[in-house]
Amino acid sequence: MKIVFATHNQHKLKEVKALLPSEIQLLSLDDIGCFDEIPETGKTLEENAKIKADHITSTYGFDCFSDDTGLLIDALQGAPGVYSARYAGEQKDAKDNMTKVLSELKDSANRGAYFKTVIHLNLENKSYSFEGIVEGQITKKEFGSKGFGYDPIFKPKGYNETFGELSAAIKNEISHRGLAIQKLVAFFKNRAL
Ligand code: IMP
Repeated sequence: MKIVFATHNQHKLKEVKALLPSEIQLLSLDDIGCFDEIPETGKTLEENAKIKADHITSTYGFDCFSDDTGLLIDALQGAPGVYSARYAGEQKDAKDNMTKVLSELKDSANRGAYFKTVIHLNLENKSYSFEGIVEGQITKKEFGSKGFGYDPIFKPKGYNETFGELSAAIKNEISHRGLAIQKLVAFFKNRAL
């Protein structure tokens, strides 16, 4: 069974491929020759994930899943949310984005936040959605340089280190994306039984 994971990121592809049952042949956007600029015009992570997966299914005819992730900060009424990648501008710079968040929060005592990943799957004319959330706190400055995006300023609940300091193995196990992928994998495994 061929399924497209709507990503150009080979690292993400490899990671998910290793977890899926072997009868699933996972293809990337590069594998199907898709270099389209898919507009992420949705107002929610769910909408954006659906837009991407639907574009692949309707244009290329493949079953497909896509993911969309955002950081939602309580004191900023859920911002940056769907705008996480380009919060400080179209240059999509992680450092600029973190600086903007830290300056907006200043010394606020309310630093609660969560990462959320939504996966939208189109399979045999039906669609499914899987969600992963990790709650935590925004630190007052950056710690560590592992990971990407907002990792150095996000301390997951129950840990004393940020995602920028924790190992990739721990992050994959407890993170928003890790949890959403675990649900997707469980779905495919149950179907295969
Ligand atoms: P995407 O939907 O996976 O492309 O994520 C959108 C944006 O959210 C990224 O550009 C990052 O700024 C942020 N982001 C997503 N996942 C993570 C993560 O695991 N750690 C830190 N930032 C993330």
